Amino acid sequence: MKKRIAAALLLLLCFSMLSCACKNKNNEDAAPAFNEDDITSESVTVTEPTTIGEDSRILYLTFDDGPGAYTQHLLATLAKYNVKVTFFVTNFRPEWRFLLTREAREGHTVAVHSYSHEYSNIYSSTSAYWNDFNKMDDVVLACTGHRTEVMRFPGGSSNTISSSYCSGIMTTLTRQMLDKGISYIDWDVDSYDAGGASSSEEVVENLQRGVSDRKVSVILCHDVKSYTVEAMETFIPWALEEGYIFLPCTPDSNPARHSVNN
Ligand SMILES: [Zn+2]
Repeated sequence: MKKRIAAALLLLLCFSMLSCACKNKNNEDAAPAFNEDDITSESVTVTEPTTIGEDSRILYLTFDDGPGAYTQHLLATLAKYNVKVTFFVTNFRPEWRFLLTREAREGHTVAVHSYSHEYSNIYSSTSAYWNDFNKMDDVVLACTGHRTEVMRFPGGSSNTISSSYCSGIMTTLTRQMLDKGISYIDWDVDSYDAGGASSSEEVVENLQRGVSDRKVSVILCHDVKSYTVEAMETFIPWALEEGYIFLPCTPDSNPARHSVNN
């Protein structure tokens, strides 16, 4: 009898191990075709720790609307050059949510952009806005262990789209955000990857032109655009060669705020 029970238990163990293996296989199948080894197996640039001085030129590289299908590729490029950036995240594609954990673990700032990013919803009333914001902040907390300390409004604080849904809402929301101790961050250099630029060459050109002659730049990019992620393989080594220092956004960093227009 004992032998039979032992055999049954052994069979059960084998079956559960097999089923685990299948689950892992399925997860692998769901992963993107991109292979990080494509980047990391090449000659890896080891960046020396940088000291920030009076003459330092700082780049706050920010990526909105992710995570998405190209984010892993971007993370590999950032790791290759030891560059830390900021991700203003959404819940557009919950299947990529697990990347928020990796972004934070690798030293990037992970901050709220919006849960739904639907202007007609979030800017219809302050309560609708905060409902959306808090939902995304809960996702950020669950994935990173930290609540958001900085954030970016969809469309930026200067957007006028919101006036179609609620007059004066940006004036109220920007005040409320600061009252909560959360720094809202806009940008002063645009990659134009959400309109205007449609190739990595154009993105690189826009960024190189945008940051030249600026001591501090807060750069708007979207990691949901393949050509933007591709552009980083050129822009980042160029900027490092030129002596720029990349930093992730913090509550004390330059917020590059726009003027509120609604
Ligand atoms: Zn956005």
